Amino acid sequence: MSSTDTAIASAEAHSAHNYHPLPVVVASADGAWMTDVEGRRYLDMLAGYSALNFGHGNRRLIDAARAQLERVTLTSRAFHHDRFADFCTRLAELCGMEMVLPMNTGAEAVETAVKTARKWGYRVKGVPDGMAKIIVAADNFHGRTTTIVSFSTDQEARADFGPYTPGFEIVPYGDLTALSEAMTENTVAVLMEPIQGEAGVLVPPPGYLAGVREMTRERDVLFIADEIQSGLGRTGRTFACEHEGVVPDMYVLGKALGGGVVPVSAVVSSAAVLGVYRPGEHGSTFGGNPLACAVALEVIAMLRTGEFQQRATELGGHLHAELGLLAGGEAVRAVRGRGLWAGVDISPALGTGREISEKLMERGVLVKDTHGSTIRIAPPLVISKEDLDWGLDQLRGVLAG
Ligand SMILES: *Cc1c(COP(=O)(O)O)cnc(C)c1O
Repeated sequence: MSSTDTAIASAEAHSAHNYHPLPVVVASADGAWMTDVEGRRYLDMLAGYSALNFGHGNRRLIDAARAQLERVTLTSRAFHHDRFADFCTRLAELCGMEMVLPMNTGAEAVETAVKTARKWGYRVKGVPDGMAKIIVAADNFHGRTTTIVSFSTDQEARADFGPYTPGFEIVPYGDLTALSEAMTENTVAVLMEPIQGEAGVLVPPPGYLAGVREMTRERDVLFIADEIQSGLGRTGRTFACEHEGVVPDMYVLGKALGGGVVPVSAVVSSAAVLGVYRPGEHGSTFGGNPLACAVALEVIAMLRTGEFQQRATELGGHLHAELGLLAGGEAVRAVRGRGLWAGVDISPALGTGREISEKLMERGVLVKDTHGSTIRIAPPLVISKEDLDWGLDQLRGVLAG
């Protein structure tokens, strides 16, 4: 057996099969490229679902992590540490907000947003105890905890995990009338992805996010934008909401915030909203730890230059122009997305998204299918134009058969 086959067989024997990875075993990575255990190189066109916006082994991020590793890595929140205030101040500033509540994974930040909205509903809005409702969109992806899968519409994510957490209403994504009808005086928040990533990089109709913003403001409801995948440069702006000039009440951030080095997530909001917490009411042992803060501070500094947003805009324009040409042909049904982020619906006649992904892998390009025959393209924002073009050539090659 090859070292690839041995590693895969061993992983399958000793790990839960809650994923179905492509048959590649990565041993090292640099920038937009990964190398497997047999020395083959692959162009990473997934970037860890946007967790690797700044590429593998980014010098600035690795240096920041290494320097912090030598000083102090974990204190717990029982004590202050000297990176915490800076991290919260800078992140709030980047978001145009006032306060930060740090966690680790995206799902934890979404849970935090849900708890915050409920508490705000009872303490500030005056919703009767136990009655708070949060409106979410169909085909959402917000994570994998029991509460979050309770408001998923994906049977694979939900089935066998009940009983489900109540208190959520699901409306079709992109439909303002449905949203308006679902709101009652007990609605405390609308939680949405400004672009639905897992659903296939679905961009809502123009005016939708602005409409959600207006409606939530009028009805005293919090607009929570889950920018875990769409945020931090991916779409060409710091936040995908910016494309519609929308500022939500709360950003939920994760993935790229940890620079591909450590898990870092956060809820960022106003003092009126995050000010509802008192000591002991919520927390996390690892949330806001010194190593996480040091890496995230470097991420924030990199985003402040606008360089990565600019790259995503320029390279994204090129990506969508090239994919647009393909969309005119037989092989590609539709292309969606913004910036360096695209969902490509391949004609089912050419195979499932999984089969297309495997063929791309054989040509040295790594992507991930979403549902059916859709593949997602989201390379690190540091990818060169030449590499992006090479990746697109491989896609054209696969589509040509
Ligand atoms: C990935 C993702 C999450 C969950 O993040 P984890 O770190 O995997 O828990 C939540 N929301 C969105 C939009 C995501 O893309």
